[in-house]
Amino acid sequence: MEQITHYVNGERVEGESGRYTDVYNPATGEVQAQCPLASKSEVDAIIAKAQAAQPAWAAVNPQRRARVMMKFVDLLNRDMDKLAEVLSREHGKTLPDAAGDVQRGLEVVEYCIGAPQMLKGDFTDSAGPGIDMYSMRQALGVTAGITPFNFPAMIPMWMFAPAIVCGNAFILKPSERDPSVPLMLAELLKEAGLPDGILQVVNGDKEAVDALLHSDIVQSIGFVGSTPIAEYIYATGCANGKRVQCFGGAKNHMIIMPDADLDQAADALLGAGYGAAGERCMAISVAIPVGEETADKLIEKLVPRIETLKVGPYTAGNDVDYGPVITSAAKENILNLVQSGIDQGAKLVVDGRNFNLQGYEDGFFVGPHLFDNVTADMDIYTKEIFGPVLSTIRAKTYEEAIGYAMDHEYGNGTAIYTRDGDTARDFANRINVGMVGINVPIPVPLAYHTFGGWKKSVFGDLNQHGPDAFKFYTRTKTVTARWPSGIKEGGEFSIPVMK
Ligand code: NAD
Repeated sequence: MEQITHYVNGERVEGESGRYTDVYNPATGEVQAQCPLASKSEVDAIIAKAQAAQPAWAAVNPQRRARVMMKFVDLLNRDMDKLAEVLSREHGKTLPDAAGDVQRGLEVVEYCIGAPQMLKGDFTDSAGPGIDMYSMRQALGVTAGITPFNFPAMIPMWMFAPAIVCGNAFILKPSERDPSVPLMLAELLKEAGLPDGILQVVNGDKEAVDALLHSDIVQSIGFVGSTPIAEYIYATGCANGKRVQCFGGAKNHMIIMPDADLDQAADALLGAGYGAAGERCMAISVAIPVGEETADKLIEKLVPRIETLKVGPYTAGNDVDYGPVITSAAKENILNLVQSGIDQGAKLVVDGRNFNLQGYEDGFFVGPHLFDNVTADMDIYTKEIFGPVLSTIRAKTYEEAIGYAMDHEYGNGTAIYTRDGDTARDFANRINVGMVGINVPIPVPLAYHTFGGWKKSVFGDLNQHGPDAFKFYTRTKTVTARWPSGIKEGGEFSIPVMK
């Protein structure tokens, strides 16, 4: 049985706590590795290593730090296939989707190569008589991040690339469900020239997270995962005086207007609803056709498309649209929610409950489901399902449709399909959701913009990647300077103002 390690001070280190969790191959249901769960004392030792290494790294000039990122991009491209294979084996997503997971992280690393520009600060010459004023952005020190299972390459890179390039040390606590790729990324960064101790990976559960949250040395915490844990980490981190940003769960609505191209809308719903088995925080889980005719036609177009979806293991290559979900517990939770939908009166138009893949009977596969006539009080609507289940709510008007998205507690992503510019513009302006697609079903912003939802999908006020990441991982210091020739005689007793 493979033993997963931690990554401490530039090398793989075995766990000492004696506590482990199983890592599965979700396609076969087999346990393929044991992941150590770090104790508080192991985490404290890792924090101390980070604290020792960070000042020298912060003193390296930004251009040299950026060159490490440049080299890292080359290495990610060199090892793309290997990373994607390991990722698929632990997560279950298809190989092209796994390569996309790495690629979307790589793009943020590319953005971080611009660190010298991002960090160069502001300068005002002669802000007053003989006075200059300048602002600099300085590293926080030791930073940490806790990441979810569903993007084991992309989300760690979204956090550690900007943190490190800004001159911080970063401790990553990845998901214990698929911990191998984060360790490989840490090794690649060492090969790219990153000094030991600047990126460390500690595997673990609540005990490890709590050790990070309660450490006086850790200055900031980034979190991506489910909303209840996001709330806990935000509250605890803030109470302990840390800078914290947490990104939580989602329920993303797509509104389909009567004037939309319904073939395009159905194709979009297929990928956005069922891609990665629905295990994406930007997956579309609710379709809201406007008008009975639109709804009838949309369902008519969706059903045959969904019925031909190919579900299987990543090893089947391009013959698969989506793979298994992450654990048997996740599968059970999805199927329980499907049952609740039936019990609460929704119409199950495509039933994936009895999906069975020959030779993979123990894998965590869930067939695709489509519900019609869903109402806002049903559990399949209020809760995040995180599986291949698409719910349809029939709305009579655009106002009713937008109201569902506005009233839902989550506000990560949303989309509208229409040919009408006025409607699209109104939607983009009024909707209380962080990322909006106009005829784009999964509007994940590119690396140089920022990523973040609204409402219960986020806790904290800065987004991930883009310019916000450079703000989150640095502190501003503003210096007001004058030299003896600019100093007048005598003390000043009132607050200095610009005359
Ligand atoms: P999760 O909340 O179960 O776990 C996320 C991380 O928190 C993991 O590293 C886990 O070990 C840790 N954790 C779990 N329980 C904890 C506890 N009690 N105390 C401290 N730490 C704990 O989430 P997940 O199942 O890995 O990921 C799926 C969730 O992540 C979904 O809700 C999805 O919407 C969300 N997500 C959100 C975004 C976003 O940007 N908003 C992106 C990806 C995923």
